[in-house]
Amino acid sequence: MTKMTVMAVPEKGGPLTAETRDLPDPGRNEVRIKIQACGVCHSDAATVLGLFPDITYPRVPGHEVVGVIDALGPDVQGWTVGMRVGVGWFPGACEYCDNCRRGHSFACKNVTGATGVSRDGGYATHMLARTSAVARLPYALDAVESAPLLCAGITTFNALRNSGATPGDLVAVHGVGGLGHLGIQYAAKMGFRTVAVNRGRDKEALARSLGAHDYIDSDANDAGQALMDLGGAKAIIATVTNAQAMEAISGGLGINGVMMVIGAVGALTVDSLTLLRKRASVKGWYSGIGSDSEDALAFSEQHNIRSMNEIYPLAQAQDAFNRMLSGKARFRVVLKV
Ligand SMILES: [Zn+2]
Ligand SMILES: [Zn+2]
Repeated sequence: MTKMTVMAVPEKGGPLTAETRDLPDPGRNEVRIKIQACGVCHSDAATVLGLFPDITYPRVPGHEVVGVIDALGPDVQGWTVGMRVGVGWFPGACEYCDNCRRGHSFACKNVTGATGVSRDGGYATHMLARTSAVARLPYALDAVESAPLLCAGITTFNALRNSGATPGDLVAVHGVGGLGHLGIQYAAKMGFRTVAVNRGRDKEALARSLGAHDYIDSDANDAGQALMDLGGAKAIIATVTNAQAMEAISGGLGINGVMMVIGAVGALTVDSLTLLRKRASVKGWYSGIGSDSEDALAFSEQHNIRSMNEIYPLAQAQDAFNRMLSGKARFRVVLKV
């Protein structure tokens, strides 16, 4: 086979359009991946709708990629054809800049941007990826089931394990959606006293079935006060896409509590008195690098954590994207290739 199919964004705004391209050869320190599944993430709107500046079109979105290595570039070591792998938002790193050398390769100065934004991603039959971006996938994990773990999964998993909370601490997962339904499972399995917070009661039974020990309806209650009534949160994982909702729950931070912000919501207002009285903080969290994805995938396999997905064929990528954007999907949308 010498050709591949991609669903590309021809110009800002779309629509996602099928293109046949020559199968590319991987460059130095790159592998080519034969894709099995790719999740459709809210951040793909950056590419499809042109929300980020400086995107070169046509561009193939997709950063929740699962597949098998089918070709190696020159000088590639440690990876072999046939390995099951995943690629997330992290586009890889140079491994020689100052940030990389100090262990902060997520903030590499030379390899910037993101998979499916600054380079072609996984809405395709094949893609190229830097080896530094690639994660090994446990063989037991199903491709479609695990694709969303490469972004929604790793982001919540990594924020939780870096929040400073320890087993038994009260942790709130704010928002029971694509990210939150995974965050609840991770938090419960990590041993936190897990509180799900969402508007209304519709998702309470589901949240409890995923492991939440408590549930707060943020329409009927002041979510911050309700968390304080439970003792105050050591960590709040903010998965909502609304800055006001984050502001409202920040009052629920306990002593040394941390609100982990994992989604871009623009300007965020937090009461300084709330922070200083409790030595609380608000912290941004970049999802993670390839090895973080590997940890998230291994943990998901060990603890049987899965994403709940709606599945579309690759050719219907635009429908899949629209469904994701509607906010009505339960809970992630995945392209099966
Ligand atoms: Zn994403
Ligand atoms: Zn670097």
